Amino acid sequence: KILIASICVAYLAVKWTGPTFDPESLKGSRVLVTGASSGIGEQMAYHYARFGAQIVITARREKVLQQVTEKCLSLGAQKALYVPADMSNESDPEKVVDFALEKLGGLDYLVLNHIGATRFAMWDGDVDHVKWLMKPNFFSYIQMAWRALPSLEQSKGSMIIVSSMAGKLSNPFTAPYTATKSALNGFFGSLSHELAMKESNVSVSICSLGLIDTDTAMNAVRGIITTPAYPASEAALNIIITGATRQLELYYPWYTYVMTLTKDWFPSLTNHLIRNAMNYNP
Ligand code: NDP
Repeated sequence: KILIASICVAYLAVKWTGPTFDPESLKGSRVLVTGASSGIGEQMAYHYARFGAQIVITARREKVLQQVTEKCLSLGAQKALYVPADMSNESDPEKVVDFALEKLGGLDYLVLNHIGATRFAMWDGDVDHVKWLMKPNFFSYIQMAWRALPSLEQSKGSMIIVSSMAGKLSNPFTAPYTATKSALNGFFGSLSHELAMKESNVSVSICSLGLIDTDTAMNAVRGIITTPAYPASEAALNIIITGATRQLELYYPWYTYVMTLTKDWFPSLTNHLIRNAMNYNP
């Protein structure tokens, strides 16, 4: 208990002494948010809108994107545009970045957040699904990051990667998803080093989230996980602040940081806690 308390104090100390967020810094900033038709991405679009940003949003459902865009304009976005795209398609990721660059005249924030559909279930040996899921959840991310990099260099911009605690710590029922998030953490962690070594202007923020109360997540875990889910709007704001203050990492909510540390220090205990947080009767 003393150890856990010390970790929490250390976490809060880091959080409170971190860089200060200036909301004005986002006014007029040029932002591309993926997966913005629902969940955390939609909430990020609304926060950026309230901060007066210029936004391009994308996902597959055009009608919903149109509604989100209209709400962004009513909330105060300087500009709000949408582009429908399927990130499991080979050419759509680059097409979306090109659209944003053309319409906004460059980018200050590239916020990669979308995920392809996957089941919350024990792996059934479907290798083709894992190969497919890597397209939206991983390959499209690296395609978009590379395409946007020259513009982000010019603007001293930021890439924000919405990942998961699953990228740090394996959970049951999410093997394909966990593989894609681990790939993201590995790739963008490496890229972040390379950019720093090249004295690049671009910051990379990797966001490790715990359970958030989006419809997708709640429908998936219903009856299996009973731990509390945290609000999507608050998660979205934390992600935006992490990018705006150019921090390398976000752990949200707080317990994700504790779990990440305890998995190395007390692996058996951590694994026990993870398995016991799930209702499963073979
Ligand atoms: P949602 O399911 O609510 O949103 C997913 C978004 O991705 C939607 O806008 C969806 O729109 C879009 N999308 C789905 N498939 C495709 C595709 N093939 N091409 C383009 N866009 C697509 O997810 P969440 O808000 O819950 O999650 C957002 C991020 O947060 C993800 O990266 C997720 O891994 C991460 N996260 C979430 C957690 C949670 O508990 N909610 C926990 C940890 C991490 P459309 O259907 O219109 O295409």
